[in-house]
Amino acid sequence: MKKLGCFQACRYSNRMVIAGTAVAVVSILLWGEGILPVLFGVLAAAGVAIIVAGCVIGNRFIVCPHCGGPLYDGPRLPTHIPQYCPNCGTKIEPPGGG
Ligand SMILES: [Zn+2]
Repeated sequence: MKKLGCFQACRYSNRMVIAGTAVAVVSILLWGEGILPVLFGVLAAAGVAIIVAGCVIGNRFIVCPHCGGPLYDGPRLPTHIPQYCPNCGTKIEPPGGG
């Protein structure tokens, strides 16, 4: 697998957390209504798994390309990449041409 850049990782991570949340919330609501409880129980679990996977990608790959330090404070994942690395102060530039 190709190494993810921090900007790509941020995008993937955000999308996975948003998509996983949407799947989990809808499934839990329908599951609560008693509609196809087995199916929506499984989908709710899958949604949660996608959220967790998104967080893991964020934690592993949203790091400074210079020093490898995390580009976020605390347990919360960033919705965007900061302009400067909080650890070493290197300016974080988005990949060109994108
Ligand atoms: Zn750094």
